[in-house]
Amino acid sequence: MSPVNRLQEIPTRPFHYAGAQDRDLLCDRVPLSRLVRAYGTPLYVYSATNILGRVRLFAEAFAGMRATVCYSVKANSNLSILRLLAAADAGFDIVSGGELERVRQAAKSSLRRVVFSGVGKTAAEIDAALAARILVFNVESPAELDLLEQRARHLRKRAPVAMRVNPDVFAATHPYISTGMTEHKFGVAIGDAAALYQRAARSSYLTPTGVSVHIGSQIRSAEPFGQALQRVVQLVRELQSSYGIQIRHIDAGGGLGISYQADDAPQQGKRPANAESFDPKAAVLEYAQQMRVALAGFDGELLLEPGRFIIAQAGALLAQVLHTKRNGKKAFVVTDAAMNDLIRPALYQAYHSILPLRRQQDRPSAVVDVVGPVCETGDFFARDRELAALDAGDFLAILDAGAYGMSLSSNYNSRPRAAEVLVEGNRHRLIRRRETMRDLLAVERTFLNGGAE
Ligand SMILES: *Cc1c(COP(=O)(O)O)cnc(C)c1O
Repeated sequence: MSPVNRLQEIPTRPFHYAGAQDRDLLCDRVPLSRLVRAYGTPLYVYSATNILGRVRLFAEAFAGMRATVCYSVKANSNLSILRLLAAADAGFDIVSGGELERVRQAAKSSLRRVVFSGVGKTAAEIDAALAARILVFNVESPAELDLLEQRARHLRKRAPVAMRVNPDVFAATHPYISTGMTEHKFGVAIGDAAALYQRAARSSYLTPTGVSVHIGSQIRSAEPFGQALQRVVQLVRELQSSYGIQIRHIDAGGGLGISYQADDAPQQGKRPANAESFDPKAAVLEYAQQMRVALAGFDGELLLEPGRFIIAQAGALLAQVLHTKRNGKKAFVVTDAAMNDLIRPALYQAYHSILPLRRQQDRPSAVVDVVGPVCETGDFFARDRELAALDAGDFLAILDAGAYGMSLSSNYNSRPRAAEVLVEGNRHRLIRRRETMRDLLAVERTFLNGGAE
């Protein structure tokens, strides 16, 4: 990555109040009320400016090092977003044949900057990636190394290989998204890696080119990344000195966390009690500093696989209030968005800031649960949250929903999936239309009562 010019500062989030008496919530320069009128709700909205700003933060922080951002497609895999990132010279971290196809459709020339991760690649997925001539396979087990060699032999190709090592480093995050300890299913124990590299080096169909590591997601401290990388660098030295195996790149994985409680969210009246200050630029700089120290003496390329850090805060999920209701002491705000649209609160007990699209200074605040219509008690976006009172028909924005929002959405309760809009300055474009009833049923067949096969 080449050093870049100093940039104008990009706000942590693109969502802010403006207009008459600062009442209307905007994304960049587009009032969100205009988007809900044009496209309906539930609606995902992303700022291209904010996404590119995050990519540039990485470029700035790693200036002077040979570093490539391989955006983690699973965080948000919309084709327009992939194309936007490809145009900013990003590569991609994929975990399935479907994600490979997305990269091919969005930016064919970026296939050579694709790293393929995942603990269970199928023969068909490996074949497709070999044919696409991707940058490297991140191999997670001896069995997978065998399969990769077999497929490469079959197709008469040479597969570039990195072993994903498990460095046994603890990183504080939610247990479902911690991956870097030996009790987890990911990677091969770092102590077993050298033998696998020797096996790969002996094969005519495999070329060991890298070492990769990924210790988890939403990790807020930089130290675990440094510790993991130090162990990787030790392995790289051992491979070189003991076995003559030259490692060209180290893949440090993704996982850099954000603050879902960042206090720049313009709240109504007062700061929420859990608000914290969060400076994305400082976070990347500290992360890069840990890497720089750990990588001293390594003169190959560094690959980075950020997902959440790039896209989470660029996006929000917009919803409309259907009803408000009380059950005993509890007050509920029922929205037309649900856990099938954004599952993070249900899956990870995740916190998301919620803002009204229109601020009403005269409205009192109330403590409410914001919930969806799905038949699960886990179908909530906020619990016991103090919010400016919301009425039926009002619109709200659930912030920091750009990562693991749409990509984890489903049709549960036979709900068509939301539409997605990309904003850039004062322009907006539909990048995924709302699903229809026809989409919902398109791939199913009825046959019990004489329906056609
Ligand atoms: C999920 C994942 C990432 C991205 O993680 P973030 O926390 O979104 O940065 C990167 N690499 C691998 C191997 C992953 O599984």
